[in-house]
Amino acid sequence: MGFSDSIFFRRDFLIATHHRKEDAIGPVFREKFEANIIVPENFNTDVFGTFSGEIERTGTPLETARRKSKAASEAFNANLVIASEGSFGPHPSLYFIPADDEILLLTDYENNLEIAVREVSTKTNFAGKEVKTRDELKSFCETSGFPDHKVILKTVDEGHSTIIKDIQSWDELQSTAEMLLAIYGKLLIETDMRAMNNPTRMSVIAQAAEKLANLMNSKCPRCKTPGFDVGKSEPGLPCSLCKLPTESTLKHVYICKKCGYHEDLYYPYKKTFEDPQYCQWCNP
Ligand SMILES: [Zn+2]
Ligand SMILES: [Zn+2]
Repeated sequence: MGFSDSIFFRRDFLIATHHRKEDAIGPVFREKFEANIIVPENFNTDVFGTFSGEIERTGTPLETARRKSKAASEAFNANLVIASEGSFGPHPSLYFIPADDEILLLTDYENNLEIAVREVSTKTNFAGKEVKTRDELKSFCETSGFPDHKVILKTVDEGHSTIIKDIQSWDELQSTAEMLLAIYGKLLIETDMRAMNNPTRMSVIAQAAEKLANLMNSKCPRCKTPGFDVGKSEPGLPCSLCKLPTESTLKHVYICKKCGYHEDLYYPYKKTFEDPQYCQWCNP
């Protein structure tokens, strides 16, 4: 499937980032759409919330991405904008496992189109720990991949009065930490989740970019609007033993947001029967 007949082919894409996310997104869009990637200088996305907690994020990640996109479109007079928003915390379905949850949003202001993807990955170093000794500090840094991945130091007083970022070397980290430990007796060390300081996150954003590009190339069979995507999934996959419907997914329904056309895709996970161990009739 070529991308050359796409409405996105060879257009100017503005990436609303100041954390070098273009390093992950740019190559995918250059390859597939021969995109001209534009990265605005001085676009400060920190006003929409920071990971290290100085500025609280308000609204859902998708809403935040929308606000970033709109602000960038207006400030730089761009009609095709990619905005992204990442969240970190427990995996939404695999409890207690940390996950990187990335939203990537394309807005085409010229054609009044919005296409979004979500990539949830357990590939993340997201962590934080209170430490009191040099050894604890060192072991945290080893697990989190420092110095390729950066870390953030915070004092443990109310409101974290001191937050130190962009530490480049182990020597620098150690001397800074020792200074804080001498004053406070302990400190908080956290992984830096900003894309440019976190190669693992950068690779998850690249996966999301791949997903977004493919969805942009998925067109409604009726009106040809890009972004033809799964709108809902329906349960009812039959059990292989009793043949009754189970809670497992039977089909995905693709829905066009523009014209409402929909199409069923049965057995999206390439499975026509469910194992009786997941059947509520055979194994209640
Ligand atoms: Zn349509
Ligand atoms: Zn059954």
